[in-house]
Amino acid sequence: MHNGPVGVGLRGRLVAAWKPLAVAGGVGAAASVLLFVDPNQPGSWLPPCPLRALTGIWCPACGATRMAHALLHGDLVAAWHLNAVGLVAGVPFALWLWGRWLRARLRGAPTPQVPPVVGNVVIVVCVLWVVARNALSIGAV
Ligand SMILES: [Zn+2]
Repeated sequence: MHNGPVGVGLRGRLVAAWKPLAVAGGVGAAASVLLFVDPNQPGSWLPPCPLRALTGIWCPACGATRMAHALLHGDLVAAWHLNAVGLVAGVPFALWLWGRWLRARLRGAPTPQVPPVVGNVVIVVCVLWVVARNALSIGAV
């Protein structure tokens, strides 16, 4: 079965999908760095969260680099403790966004729009996560 545009071969599909593939390459490069550089070590050259460093406030993404490091090393428990919402919602959400973007581009379709309700849910989850981390000290490690 042929799902792509008529007359567009594999090369044309890959060219049409260069942006999501480039993003995957960038994420893969960053993940490669995290395989060998431990952001938990004192003096790590990986930058800390600027908001946390300047204000002491935990943002929704605080711990995401250390979570990714733990995840890449198969330590799900540590990943959970470092950024639970990032692990159970952020990673699957990012994969979903990237997957639908790649699929559309490979089919020659325009980049799919994210329904407004999805953006609203992301904002609410981020606000609740910030409150939980800063006011209730949940997941602030
Ligand atoms: Zn942060």
